[in-house]
Amino acid sequence: MSGGESTSTCLACDRDSNATPLLALEYRGKRLWICPQHVPILIHDPTRLAGRLPGAESLSPAEGHD
Ligand SMILES: [Zn+2]
Repeated sequence: MSGGESTSTCLACDRDSNATPLLALEYRGKRLWICPQHVPILIHDPTRLAGRLPGAESLSPAEGHD
């Protein structure tokens, strides 16, 4: 491993852009990446990302308006 340049990996499954397309997102000022397979988790069940995504436990699913 060479230090320095950090590899972009999906925040849910740790696959990099050689294995899957990655979508960039920004959260709390940090650039994060997620693969299409895990975008629905981020949208509908973000608390499942708690532990990987700091603060995810306080995110609300996009579904519903209450
Ligand atoms: Zn993923």
